[in-house]
Amino acid sequence: MSQHPTAKDLSDQILYHLTHTQGRGTEFATTFDWRLAVSYTIRDLIVTPWMAAIRAARDQGAKRVYYLSMEFLIGRILEDAITNLNLNGAMDAALEGLGLDKQEILRDEPDAALGNGGLGRLAACFMESLATLQCPALGYGIRYEHGLFRQRFEAGQQVETPEDWLNQPHPWEFVRLDYSYTIGFKGHVEDRDGRAVWQPGESVVARAYDTPVIGWQGEWANTLRLWGAHPTTLFDLHRFNAGDHAAAAEPEALARTLSRVLYPDDGTESGKELRLKQEYFLTSAALQDILRRFLAEHDDLRDLPARVAIQLNDTHPAIAGPELIRLLMDDHGLDFVTAHDLARGTLNYTNHTLLPEALERWSTWLMGRVLPRHMQIIQMIDDHHRRTSARPDHVGIVRHDQVQMGELAFIMAGRVNGVSALHTELVKDTVFADLHRLHPGRIVNQTNGVTPRRWLRMSNPALAGLLDEVIGPGWTADLDRLKGLEPHADDPAFRDRLRAAKRANKARLSDGLLAGLGVRADPDAIFDVQVKRIHEYKRQLLNILEAIALWRRIHDDPNRGWTPRVKIFGGKAAPGYWLAKTVIHLINDVAATINHDPLTRDLLQIAYPPNYNVSMAEDLIPAADLSEQISTAGKEASGTGNMKFTMNGALTIGTLDGANVEIRDLVGPGNFFLFGLTAAEAAAEAARPGHARAAIEASDDLKAALQMVAEGRFSGGRADPYFALLDRTWNDDPFLVASDFDAYFATQRRVDAAYRDAAEWDRMAALNIARAGFFSSDRTIRGYMADIWQVRPVSLTTDAPA
Ligand SMILES: *Cc1c(COP(=O)(O)O)cnc(C)c1O
Repeated sequence: MSQHPTAKDLSDQILYHLTHTQGRGTEFATTFDWRLAVSYTIRDLIVTPWMAAIRAARDQGAKRVYYLSMEFLIGRILEDAITNLNLNGAMDAALEGLGLDKQEILRDEPDAALGNGGLGRLAACFMESLATLQCPALGYGIRYEHGLFRQRFEAGQQVETPEDWLNQPHPWEFVRLDYSYTIGFKGHVEDRDGRAVWQPGESVVARAYDTPVIGWQGEWANTLRLWGAHPTTLFDLHRFNAGDHAAAAEPEALARTLSRVLYPDDGTESGKELRLKQEYFLTSAALQDILRRFLAEHDDLRDLPARVAIQLNDTHPAIAGPELIRLLMDDHGLDFVTAHDLARGTLNYTNHTLLPEALERWSTWLMGRVLPRHMQIIQMIDDHHRRTSARPDHVGIVRHDQVQMGELAFIMAGRVNGVSALHTELVKDTVFADLHRLHPGRIVNQTNGVTPRRWLRMSNPALAGLLDEVIGPGWTADLDRLKGLEPHADDPAFRDRLRAAKRANKARLSDGLLAGLGVRADPDAIFDVQVKRIHEYKRQLLNILEAIALWRRIHDDPNRGWTPRVKIFGGKAAPGYWLAKTVIHLINDVAATINHDPLTRDLLQIAYPPNYNVSMAEDLIPAADLSEQISTAGKEASGTGNMKFTMNGALTIGTLDGANVEIRDLVGPGNFFLFGLTAAEAAAEAARPGHARAAIEASDDLKAALQMVAEGRFSGGRADPYFALLDRTWNDDPFLVASDFDAYFATQRRVDAAYRDAAEWDRMAALNIARAGFFSSDRTIRGYMADIWQVRPVSLTTDAPA
């Protein structure tokens, strides 16, 4: 089959794979069989450019980028691959010819949910942009057997069940038995003639599972290499023969726990030994693999920084500093200072959070027990930094018997980056203020982005088709071309088509909400969407309290000409995050009460579809009119959901937080609904004693809403599920729900009014799209390539120098 197959080529290949790979005749084939046959057909088309890309990078001796991340929130792969190969038309025709329903096949694929939220999704967008830009790169992660848990609601409360995406064959991956590395833990360190020798007490094998990631137009593919944990000795035949069958399988079971589950802790420190072991497992396997590849191409380890750029996605792989030094010293005989400087020349660190509870710390006791050699090296790094930096006494990696992974990552990094302009300034002023003073210039900004292939072309074909027609398809790989839309914002005919595209997306979502939840969502109502992890700082509580206050106001004055609104929530709470789970319960309770109120049901509906994931985001975001980005200013590092909404023509109601600041600057203040305290004001307000109580007493709307919750209006007269939440809101409220409430409520009423002026709303939506080009992850990756990695794209020309 050629690289540009026809519908006939595709359908022949699908039938071939159905027979020869799935071993099924057409008359017995299930949707699953067909989906695998289609996936293998597409995979075949990816493998050729993938091999060519790997070969070109090797032949040209290109500097490689290695992206280490504990999370890759990929979602479905098949449709993205079809889109990037530009085969949608041919595939539609092929499947139609075979009598198959394309949507049914696409939706049969489980989401690869190897991440919690924004951080993991960023890694997935980066992989796609790296491939599109022909930047030779590998992503390294863990092949979790169970990704993020599945969420159900029972009596309005979150119930978690395991995700089992690997219970069925995963057609995209290739196992590499020859790339296996031993990863040790525990044990002790021996001194042999002045040389340290670590004798691990336990070990597992990390085995590589490769998934190709194809870029736009199918020119280039990179590898996502996920590590699976396997035992060093498979099976204890001795014990089995002695009749102890369960014990015989123990080594296997123990090893596999390392890659069994994704930690569902999004942003809270986890003190679990298993988590530390997972982090080391990923990092050590990746670094051993990187050194193997380097030494296959080069002789002198001193060239490492010129050939290798490693990016640490948050501090989770921050053990990379000591591990790389260990490998260079203990395995390759370099001295500490040389090893240290080479490590620092290759490593870079992305900071994702300022929340103190989310900064990773491990007790020196645990670190010393699980990774005794690394604890020694961490001490050496810390001493070396003390000697060479003239730092003040309170600065250091090891403090109060804890290893601070942020400080470790910073000290071992050539570049440290924040993920939005505001966040990067706050990183300099707060968490790393001392280190920034000691190392000015090390901290740089790279504002996050999202891939327009998945988040616009694939998930919003109605809008993508309109854009193709009006400005040409070049925007897909050059999102700044959306600028060409600006003049059309004033064209009523264009605006009507834009509205029709949005209306079609809303109608489809409305059908889904009715079928799935029984919620009636009028496609002409404002679709107001807040989808993201449930976290206090993201303030879903503010949103649901506003809904209660609005409901009460409508009751007081039903004929005031309210703008009909459907509030849509989506998101999971970490299983141990009790307050976040209470917020989920409250949203569901409020929805159950007000959705059936005959007086208001045509004006206000609340929908909370369970199990928010990438696929749900792809359905919801193109159907949104209003994007809720309402975190407490200073708390959201960047956000990427905000960018997806903007490029899909939703207007934002938001605070000056994370990348909202840049979104508002670019789309124009008149096309953005701003409210709330600034980061500086919020910090001052939070420090003011009694701020919450004062704000509640000053707001009739908020006070009444909280009163209704306290009276059990939404919970059958029993309010005890909400006592702790109410208590925290009245007496503590660290995320300033109360202080920002009135501004938020008033701004929502401005949104109501704006939505009633359809022409003006559509003009603003068009300008949001036209000015969203900056938020392509292509722009972000170009920034990393130029400012952090010093790498260049590789061309695939056949006459490239050997
Ligand atoms: C984009 C995305 C996120 C990040 O959303 P934020 O609003 O930036 O927190 C989380 N989960 C999924 C499934 C996403 O697609």
